[in-house]
Amino acid sequence: MTVLIAGGGIGGLALGLMLDRAGIRFRVFEAAPDLRMPGLGLLLRPDAVRALSDLGLGPELALIGLPMTEVAGVTPEGIVTETAPCGQATGSEMPQLSVHRGRLHRLMAEELRRRAGADRIVLDAALQDVADRGEKLTIDLFDRRQNRPGGTTRGRGLVGADGIHSTVRARLYPGEPPPRWDGLMVWRGIGPGRPPRGGHCTVVLRQGDRRLTVSPIPSIGDDRTLLAWTAKLRRPRDYEWSDAHWVPPRRIFDLAEEFEDWRSDWIDVPEMIRGSQDVFEHPLLRRDELPRMSRGRIALIGDAAHPSFKLGSGGASDAILDALALTRALQGHDSLADAFRAYDQQRREQLSDRGRETRLGAEALPNGARISWRAVLKEAEALAALRPPPRPSLLPPALEAQEGIEPSLALANIAAFRGRAGRPSRRD
Ligand SMILES: Cc1cc2nc3c(=O)[nH]c(=O)nc-3n(C[C@H](O)[C@H](O)[C@H](O)COP(=O)(O)OP(=O)(O)OC[C@H]3O[C@@H](n4cnc5c(N)ncnc54)[C@H](O)[C@@H]3O)c2cc1C
Repeated sequence: MTVLIAGGGIGGLALGLMLDRAGIRFRVFEAAPDLRMPGLGLLLRPDAVRALSDLGLGPELALIGLPMTEVAGVTPEGIVTETAPCGQATGSEMPQLSVHRGRLHRLMAEELRRRAGADRIVLDAALQDVADRGEKLTIDLFDRRQNRPGGTTRGRGLVGADGIHSTVRARLYPGEPPPRWDGLMVWRGIGPGRPPRGGHCTVVLRQGDRRLTVSPIPSIGDDRTLLAWTAKLRRPRDYEWSDAHWVPPRRIFDLAEEFEDWRSDWIDVPEMIRGSQDVFEHPLLRRDELPRMSRGRIALIGDAAHPSFKLGSGGASDAILDALALTRALQGHDSLADAFRAYDQQRREQLSDRGRETRLGAEALPNGARISWRAVLKEAEALAALRPPPRPSLLPPALEAQEGIEPSLALANIAAFRGRAGRPSRRD
């Protein structure tokens, strides 16, 4: 019988791809009408890049992502206060990648449809309720297109990959209060600017409560490199926030004013913000840690399990590693409830100690094979050579994630990877 997955975001699609590869039947129910999900920049940690490469997505990732090898703490005046290596500069074979969330999401959705069949993803299907009684697990859906109940579906188990406002979590923990807001708002954008410190550095600027993270990211549709930024500011208690939404242009200018004095030789923050066509605003929401991320035949992954809608963009990597741990647990147990219990124990332990998680994520693959990033790059190079230049698009940049990547930029990306991959790592 089928494993039901509520939510077709990064976590739900990663799980679908992994279950497909493991030969486990599944179905994804996504509330949105399509999978053209917006989003801006995010960072994928090496362990998550490894998990996606193991699925055969490495060459495509090498085309759409930029490798980051350094994190630098900088004052708004441009004085570097601290630096630390990341990605391949720490000896990891896999890079840490700066990617566009929309592109990553689209890549995963296309691959899932191609490999498992388009009918594995049901759109406009919002999970409303779940009943796990005895031998029978059923979910009730709501058909958003028709605006009416969408029927009941039976499955072997349910995985809630339905994000920070998870309905599955609310059914597992009915008494839990909604996510709380303690005054911090986050804005994300992609704007113009020269990539700092050699082009592979994530820069964190701080002053009091104001914080800004900047990573270079490939532009879509041309061969520029842009700056993906995330700003965090405190707002008064009576600030009227709503869930994630695009900011009207007038308010982008207001936001830039709050960083008016953040200009230095290498970055002009107000210019970068004003030059961003689309800016996404969302509250930084928090939830208490759950005592368990599974019960019976129901499990939670990604933001539904441990919301990390935060700076540093670790949420996507964590969701991908949850999917990997859950798939391995299902492969290793006959009983689904035992598998979900094992997943819960393993991931709660790993998530409580990130250093340990990173080490575990870097271990060899379950089948004993080791992906060679150099082989991945070779394949990416061949793919880039085949690729026609992208069509000009009238879509706003946030939705242009549907478009391709300029071949010359793809080749430049690969050259950048090669520069790193060619160096001996601590593993070699
Ligand atoms: C539209 C969007 C844009 C984002 N942009 C960024 C970004 O630019 N940078 C960044 O770092 N992070 C971004 N995030 C957050 C980041 O993607 C997540 O933190 C991370 O990927 C964890 O993924 P997840 O699969 O757990 O949750 P999500 O990626 O949030 O996916 C949850 C999915 O579940 C669906 N869903 C919700 N309720 C139901 C239901 N009842 N039934 C069925 N489906 C349901 C949602 O439509 C969504 O597709 C964004 C998230 C979303 C949804």
